[in-house]
Amino acid sequence: MDALLCLPIRTGRRVRCVWVSRAKRRCSDTLVPSVRPSVRPSVRPSVRPVRCRRPVPCRSRPGRRRPTHAVDRGEVRCLRPLRRCSRRPAALGPSRVGSLSARPSCVFRGRWCPDRRGGRAGRVASAASRPPAGGGRAVSTAPGRRGGGRSVASPVVTRLDLTASPVDLCAALVDVPSVSGDEGGLADAVEAALREQAPHLEVLRTGDAVLARTHLGRGDRVLLAGHLDTVPIADNLPSHRDGHLLYGCGTSDMKAGDAAFLHLAGTLPTPRHDLTFVFYDCEEVEAERNGLGRIEREHRDWLVADLAILGEPTNVGVEAGCQGTLRAEISTTGRRAHSARSWLGDNAIHNATPVLQRLAAYTARDVDIDGCVYREGLQAVRIAGGVAGNVVPDACVVTVNFRFAPDRDAAAAEKHVREVFDGFELVITDLSPGALPGLTVPAAAEFIAATGAAPSAKYGWTDVSRFAALGIPALNYGPGDPNLAHTREENVDTRQITEAVGVLRRFLS
Ligand SMILES: [Zn+2]
Repeated sequence: MDALLCLPIRTGRRVRCVWVSRAKRRCSDTLVPSVRPSVRPSVRPSVRPVRCRRPVPCRSRPGRRRPTHAVDRGEVRCLRPLRRCSRRPAALGPSRVGSLSARPSCVFRGRWCPDRRGGRAGRVASAASRPPAGGGRAVSTAPGRRGGGRSVASPVVTRLDLTASPVDLCAALVDVPSVSGDEGGLADAVEAALREQAPHLEVLRTGDAVLARTHLGRGDRVLLAGHLDTVPIADNLPSHRDGHLLYGCGTSDMKAGDAAFLHLAGTLPTPRHDLTFVFYDCEEVEAERNGLGRIEREHRDWLVADLAILGEPTNVGVEAGCQGTLRAEISTTGRRAHSARSWLGDNAIHNATPVLQRLAAYTARDVDIDGCVYREGLQAVRIAGGVAGNVVPDACVVTVNFRFAPDRDAAAAEKHVREVFDGFELVITDLSPGALPGLTVPAAAEFIAATGAAPSAKYGWTDVSRFAALGIPALNYGPGDPNLAHTREENVDTRQITEAVGVLRRFLS
């Protein structure tokens, strides 16, 4: 059964039950005919009460509403049967609905949290009702364009000021939570800002991605891309400042880069190159959900450029290309037996010893391409085996991860790993090619000159490889320390945001 969440929405004296599945589709069991399918239950006009027919009772009935959480010995306990909620005790207080700052983070990665009774609008409204960190003026609130319903949870779209300081704009972006799969509120705000404040751009909204481009007839086109989503919040919202540092989930990865691009979109109407901006969803989750992949499939004509710059955090240095990544499972087998009579068995975990010996003896390459040194690595990242505490195991699986330089393509990387583990049963479970640096392309060389720094190799796999696969040279360049990405103490040095905007403006003006 597809796991579902029940979201009771109160409209007047009525309570309706809105189900949202893992894939953000509404559960057809509860739909009433007048409701069109949508992923935005909170912004729809109220509907007549419907009785919940969920296989697991959701406890919500028309005209009646039960709390979703209770306090038990100082702990907040979630009453929902299908989800675990990580809300902290401090979260339950009189202000918990109206104030984001008093609310805890939600760890419902990519799903709707039952805590958000008002849906997305409630959260955005809460985030927007506070002044942005640092007292800037990058954000205000406005009635949502999709409004007009009778619901008490009327939609509010955060208004972003693209002409404000990019640092304030970054704080405003950070204060609209956008965990992967739940970027709709932020995409609404970005779309509204581009349509209102950048009339020189053609704007396209597709899913929770927003694209914009110029049509100036320039000789070259530069594509600036950034993902809008973040990893799950780690008690690190709303944003706050400490000296030059701006703290908060997504500051470094990568709303600082998004802020730089959005600021340029709003303040650079006549760039030297034609520009395409791509703000997309679901970068932090599995590849098949990646918004850039969806854009590639559905709006391929938007991904045409002579150079792509991905605003991932690089400490405002140019990180060129990226490594490829391969995961493989190597299996060993044996014969099961009672461990008290072990001579009757054959231990599969012991039989994995040669696999580990080959890994320990492996010498990885350093590969210099266009002056960038890519360091390879082959590591065991998981080992699984064992039946019980008194059984000689008959199966063992070692998972290895090979990070390879972009001079190998996917086939070459697979061939190499098969050679290393020759004689063992090996299954490839994940394989993504890397991207060559492409620094010899004129637009790339020009950009590197504008930064005034020598490029280095990108360690890790990023979406630049998608651009490389499309034949577009691509670079990583953005404010923020990549080592702080996904951490609880994630922050960005605001001076890097200003520097990135300056470098990009120089390059594009
Ligand atoms: Zn990122």
